[in-house]
Amino acid sequence: MTQPEDLFKNLISHAKEYGFIFQSSEIYDGLSAVYDYGQNGALLKNNIRQYWWQSMVQLHENIVGIDAAIFMHPTTWKASGHVDAFSDPLIDNKDSKKRYRADVLIEEHVAKIEGKIEKEVEKAAKRFENFDEKMFRSTNARVLEYQKKIDDINARFKNALEKNDLAEVKQIIVDCEIVCPVSGSKNWTDVRQFNLMFSTQLGSVSEEASTIYLRPETAQGIFVNFLNVQKTGRMKIPFGIAQTGKAFRNEIVARQFIFRMREFEQMEMQFFIRPGTQKEWYDKWKETRLSWHKALGISEKKYRFHDHIKLAHYADAACDIEFEFPFGFKELEGIHSRSDFDLKQHEQFSGRKQQYFDPELNQSYIPYVIETSIGLDRMFLAIMASSLKEEKLEDGSERVVLSLPPQLAPIKAAIFPLVKKDGLPEIAEKIINDLKFDYNVTYDEKDTVGKRYRRQDAIGTPYCITVDHESLTDHCVTIRDRDTMKQERVAIDKLKSIIEQKVSLTSLLKKIA
Ligand code: ATP
Repeated sequence: MTQPEDLFKNLISHAKEYGFIFQSSEIYDGLSAVYDYGQNGALLKNNIRQYWWQSMVQLHENIVGIDAAIFMHPTTWKASGHVDAFSDPLIDNKDSKKRYRADVLIEEHVAKIEGKIEKEVEKAAKRFENFDEKMFRSTNARVLEYQKKIDDINARFKNALEKNDLAEVKQIIVDCEIVCPVSGSKNWTDVRQFNLMFSTQLGSVSEEASTIYLRPETAQGIFVNFLNVQKTGRMKIPFGIAQTGKAFRNEIVARQFIFRMREFEQMEMQFFIRPGTQKEWYDKWKETRLSWHKALGISEKKYRFHDHIKLAHYADAACDIEFEFPFGFKELEGIHSRSDFDLKQHEQFSGRKQQYFDPELNQSYIPYVIETSIGLDRMFLAIMASSLKEEKLEDGSERVVLSLPPQLAPIKAAIFPLVKKDGLPEIAEKIINDLKFDYNVTYDEKDTVGKRYRRQDAIGTPYCITVDHESLTDHCVTIRDRDTMKQERVAIDKLKSIIEQKVSLTSLLKKIA
């Protein structure tokens, strides 16, 4: 069986080979944790973004979208807490000179112990039939011991983070005997805080230039425009503002391909509500966001909620939707109840009121906010990872297929003339000219039809359409389905409606409306 690490390696090389993702500036040996999207990747990414955008802005009458600048007034980041508190605890191993996030080292250590519990349970289940009381007791004792270890570490870690006690964070690493995965040694430096924001200079004359930041999240562009949008859009609470765009973080450990990048894209929505209603809206948005994911048809087992143990400085409740990536369950999306923290801070730092007059209550207040925040690149990775498959076919051959949700596939149909002559290319061209106004379609006349199928399977094209000699007289073509590989003879003028049923975003949106 292919191991998850191999699957992940295959995925990375597949993404490159088929024009989805390239290392940035590869001819100069690349730039760490920065990636470019190729011809197919850009289309897939656009489609995911569009699915998100339409589900937010088009399906909700009370959500509007904006597009704020990446550069913002530097005080924004003072007010938001990012200048003082947007940092990760880092630790270096003195032998390998590798840098790690201290919190991640601890979390991974805990995950390993959790793995041991799972193994014990699996072993017990396998021996179920001849499992006697003695075995039960010893398994139970081991599981309890592991669980106690986990609880102790988590409690110490939570406490250390709350008190910002970096010496204690290091002590946990020492006590747990965590070793550097590269050098295998326990020779660690002290833990230090490291701010993740990139800074640059605004202005051409250095003495007059002021330091500004590349935004580390898109959310603040929404907060500072809260009143602009509310007033010009005559929005009534509850209402939301959505935005997609680039964010930048100088991540300490940038590994795992596009999972953790230094330049990435977020899709965020801030939902402004009456104070006191946050619990209800938090639950509502958890549910809404999970159904957005589920509608894509990816196995539901791959998603789970994870409540934060340590809440960010702004949050009164927070959870992640985690996805089972090839390297385990990790955060894909965050749902945060942010209280009135951000608007209150902006009111204080700007000296401008950030209040909403509620006509029903006849009262002004600073609204509370529920945020949904998902990384577009992480979503891309989740979709690619769950779609890439190697299949054994009945005739003994193999195929690599990217079974993307058809609505998100970069190319919806590929049109092939069986041969490059006898008027077949002209018919194929005509079909393309008819379909191209609605869908991204492509033409391919090279190699055998079998090879052409394989090429389209590898990029996830839901339909292949072959024009043959009979098409000249019966005005029909063979349409082949990517997933079932079934071929069907259909009239050329039926193609549009057949493709429509499978690939239109509308069908996805209807599932969640
Ligand atoms: P993590 O704990 O993985 O660093 P986070 O909790 O800092 O993530 P948020 O600040 O909640 O992440 O950002 C919201 C979303 O943005 C995340 O759920 C993730 O999908 C995405 N995201 C955050 N950082 C990165 C990154 N470096 N690269 C790619 N996507 C990211």
